[in-house]
Amino acid sequence: MSLKLYNSLSSKKEIFKSISDKIVKTYGCGPTVYNDPHIGNFRTFVFYDLLNRVLQLNGYETETAVNITDIDDKIIDRVNQENSSLKEITSKYELSFMELSKSLKILPNNHNPRATEYVEEMIEFIQALIDQNLAYEMNGNIFFDIEAYPKYGKFINIKDDLEAEDNELLKRNRNDFTLWKAKKDSDGNIFWESEWGKGRPGWHTECAVMIKMLFDGRLDIHCGGVDLKFPHHENESAQIEALQKHNLSNYWLHAEHLNIDDEKMSKSSGNFIDVNNLIKENGSDVVRLFLLSAHYRTKVSFSQKKLDECKKMIEKINRFAKNFKFVNQSIELKFSYDHNLFIDALNDDLNTPEAIGVFFSFISEMNKKIAKNSINKLDEEKSLVFLKLFNSIFDILDSHNLQDHKIPKNIQNLLISRQKARENQDWKLSDSIRDKILSLGWHVEDTSSGQKPSKKN
Ligand SMILES: [Zn+2]
Repeated sequence: MSLKLYNSLSSKKEIFKSISDKIVKTYGCGPTVYNDPHIGNFRTFVFYDLLNRVLQLNGYETETAVNITDIDDKIIDRVNQENSSLKEITSKYELSFMELSKSLKILPNNHNPRATEYVEEMIEFIQALIDQNLAYEMNGNIFFDIEAYPKYGKFINIKDDLEAEDNELLKRNRNDFTLWKAKKDSDGNIFWESEWGKGRPGWHTECAVMIKMLFDGRLDIHCGGVDLKFPHHENESAQIEALQKHNLSNYWLHAEHLNIDDEKMSKSSGNFIDVNNLIKENGSDVVRLFLLSAHYRTKVSFSQKKLDECKKMIEKINRFAKNFKFVNQSIELKFSYDHNLFIDALNDDLNTPEAIGVFFSFISEMNKKIAKNSINKLDEEKSLVFLKLFNSIFDILDSHNLQDHKIPKNIQNLLISRQKARENQDWKLSDSIRDKILSLGWHVEDTSSGQKPSKKN
């Protein structure tokens, strides 16, 4: 089955088509670095990782960015309250975000741009919007004029859904949004100079400009938490699309919230669970599986019971893996019916609960054979391939059991992607992955029983 993704633009599952043949470009809105992220934030970040891995499983090379929001009102308030410096606060929490990402096995992104590194470009970008009459100045603030961009409102019916707000900033339309915020007394010494006076860029402009600079303002997939759809993503795309006259992104994917007691987890309401403690108490593999065990578009309520269930699931998989003498054993990757069911579930809009279900049915079937002592060589091979395939996405198993020490993990993952391409008879893609494997120092021979990798001399 080809990869299908639920696109918030059409509110439908669509067959994914990339802009370029090989590389898929994705951007996810990242953390605002003024305190430790909570587990609800990480549901979104682990979802970005899932998307990245499923794209790779489909043979795509990915270029990913998750930004670091290091200019924001909440950061500025904290710096001034604590009499600290912007850099001191933001680098501390950026580091904590990076460490937690690593511990939750999130693959590194190609880019983690910081807003502070692009302020000059943001000022130029805002000026270009003013020059095109898409933005205007009012008392040192710059606003985007939504009347100048008739396509405004891709994610919302603005006539019905927007709440009125007071207009002390003297905007022309109540929904005009801020591109540049004039410095307030309470900002202290955190400001940048511009020709409109001292101030700082607005959040919607930060993301828009980082996407413009890294990806020329054109993405395959833009993702984020569902609460960012409006106004943040609406406003990000309005700026780029009004200026560049093309789509900012072909697909928009939004992950649902993690709730506690039926309410959205949030720092500001004091209703949150610290991800650091959760990992310490349960293990990062359990937390990762918990975050992946529900479909990304369903609301999930946090519970220790669910974490305990995930712990039991991991123990069950590890017990199953220990039945086989995998260590140092080279396997030939060939997908069979069960493997394809698993891949089809993931390709159906990243349906992780179904994929996990397919994997556990397979384990139960094999466990019955093990109990009857009727497991054969083919079953063993299928089991090993499945464990590797499962772990290439979920990445929660004791890799010591699974590792083929002769073949590095990146080569193993490329072999899995290439096998998928071959199942789809996509020979062009299969050849390009083989070239990539070759460039990393490995040959692949295609035999009747699957791919046989060997190291180049
Ligand atoms: Zn953003």
